Amino acid sequence: MASTTGTRTLHHWIGGAPDDTPAGRTGAITESASGDVVARVPFADAALVDRAVALAAAAAEGWGRASLGQRAKVMFAFRALLDEHREELAGLVVREHGKVHADALGEVQRGIEVAEFACGLGQLLKGEMSAGVSSGVDSYSLRQPLGVVAGITPFNFPVMVPMWMVPIALACGNAFILKPSEQDPSPSLLIADLLRRAGLPDGVFSVVHGDREAVDAILEHPGIAAVSFVGSTAVARHVHEAGTRHGKRVQALGGAKNHAVVLPDADLDLAADALVSAGYGSAGQRCMAVSVGVLVGDVAEPLVARVRERIGRLVVADGTQADADMGPLISDAHLRRVTGYVDRGVAEGATLLVDGRALEAGDRGHFIGPTLFDHVEPGMAIYDEEVFGPVLVLVRRETYREAMELIAANAYGNGAAIFTNDGGAARAFEQEVPAGMVGINVPIPVPMAYHSFGGWKDSLFGDLHVHGPDGVRFYTRGKVVTRRWPDPSHRGVDLGFPAER
Ligand code: NAD
Repeated sequence: MASTTGTRTLHHWIGGAPDDTPAGRTGAITESASGDVVARVPFADAALVDRAVALAAAAAEGWGRASLGQRAKVMFAFRALLDEHREELAGLVVREHGKVHADALGEVQRGIEVAEFACGLGQLLKGEMSAGVSSGVDSYSLRQPLGVVAGITPFNFPVMVPMWMVPIALACGNAFILKPSEQDPSPSLLIADLLRRAGLPDGVFSVVHGDREAVDAILEHPGIAAVSFVGSTAVARHVHEAGTRHGKRVQALGGAKNHAVVLPDADLDLAADALVSAGYGSAGQRCMAVSVGVLVGDVAEPLVARVRERIGRLVVADGTQADADMGPLISDAHLRRVTGYVDRGVAEGATLLVDGRALEAGDRGHFIGPTLFDHVEPGMAIYDEEVFGPVLVLVRRETYREAMELIAANAYGNGAAIFTNDGGAARAFEQEVPAGMVGINVPIPVPMAYHSFGGWKDSLFGDLHVHGPDGVRFYTRGKVVTRRWPDPSHRGVDLGFPAER
């Protein structure tokens, strides 16, 4: 049974230090593998957000004017501290999220890569110059910080997603306010402390915890210039609409239903490995998880056999266990939501090949086993909606064209992958698939930190993607200077060359 013993209460991080302002409301943080409540998190109200913004605004002035060298020094120190504390960060992810240890370390690594990208801020913030656009006239462009910006992040990557935003926003000279997921907020506080130790001035980075009340206070605050959001589509749409209505620049990344098409000529072992790792890794709680396999032509029978065989070998256990391949879901409420989808899949006529509801995990933790449905069709909830659990659905199609029509009709467009040995088919797919991130024989095509991450359709509201070059554009605004320095000979100074007429 879940216990609530030994709980501590987390704090906000405001003005460069922990903030213990008593909270009117708090939330419970559970250890996903046991279901135990291990801490409570205070929920910010509008007054607390307002105080964080005031301190951030005061700090942003000096930080925005700090030289590129001073800012780079902090980023390099931050990068080194993240490296030193990668195990500690991963441990918090394993505990509060429930990921297996190797997966949590992978998430930390991807976050560190964004800090590395941000260390190159001297290159990233370079403008362009056109000399001599007219006589004595030059034009050049600058990129300047926005001031105070905010990030609102989901539970499923409590280190990586904040790190998609924070290093770049700071490197660009902004102050940043993070509102992490209330379900696994502890890594944000360690990140705050590492930034302080890296030499970031007080107030430039803040963490305010909370739920919708804190989010709405951020969206409505006139002192916040831009908001980055990552989470479910319904909330992304709300954040984009409310934020832009209040005059902010907003990028809001939403949910996903990523398809992997397997053509008859594919390497079936590679495709089966990919479907299983991308379908069940992190218990399917990844926005780039493959949740739909589209099996083309006669690939279906041999591929299904290979997928089932691999599922049989997966170890579902507490993420601290060395041999665990897949951990629990984030919460009991989410477990009930996912099992509800499995029930509906059966009721709506899909063929349940592997039933994760049968997992024997005792009465502790939020566990469900890997689940596989075949003969799934649009119109079934397990196809139309984002399940966000270890539920892989297979749709059978006769031709590549039919597979593409299926993907085109889907509401989401985050990632899509194809498995084939035909370069022409792969190229056609890459060109025509309506998704922001495309994999060719790669199931989870997450761009590296120096490219930008983002989807299409209901997977992104706004235009600029996160991190990489789009991140730099998002956290800065452009300015073009047109400058005239008339030839000194106009003032009678003789430089020894003829005056211009
Ligand atoms: P969520 O939308 O429930 O929560 C995200 C954030 O919004 C949290 O900080 C939460 O406190 C806040 N929030 C929740 N409900 C709110 C409301 N009604 N009003 C205002 N704020 C609210 O998402 P989640 O369950 O934490 O994360 C899983 C979702 O995130 C999935 O849909 C997944 O696909 C998506 N996701 C997308 C990406 C991407 O890059 N597109 C990446 C990671 C996760």
